[in-house]
Amino acid sequence: MQQKKFTVINEGFICDICQHQNPPATKTCRNHCQQCLCSKHVDINPGDRAEKCHGILRPSNFIIKGGSLSKIVFTCDRCGTVRKNKPADDDNKETIFILMQKLSGSLN
Ligand SMILES: [Zn+2]
Ligand SMILES: [Zn+2]
Repeated sequence: MQQKKFTVINEGFICDICQHQNPPATKTCRNHCQQCLCSKHVDINPGDRAEKCHGILRPSNFIIKGGSLSKIVFTCDRCGTVRKNKPADDDNKETIFILMQKLSGSLN
C-alpha cells in the first residue's frame, strides 16, 4: 500500500498572525493566509499536522516565471525551514507587491 503523503484539508481558518478570516479556497488547498501570506509550521508533509515546531512561516522570497508569480518562498521564523508554495488566486496582491518592493530594496 502506498502511503498517502498529501492530505487535502480545505477549510476556512482565522489567521493567528493578522486575525484575518480566510474563507475556504475554491480551486486550491489554502495553505497560507490570503491577507498576510503567513502560515504556521505545523506540517511535515502537506496537511499532516505532524510538525512540532509551530513557528511562523513568513514569506521570504518570490519565484517569478515568465513575468508572473510562480511560487512564494516561506521561511520559518523559529527553525529556519524553507517551504515553497503556489500563490492562491485570491492572495492579497498588495501584500505581495509590498513584500516584493521590500525584497528588491534589500538587494540593492
Ligand atoms: Zn494573516
Ligand atoms: Zn519551523
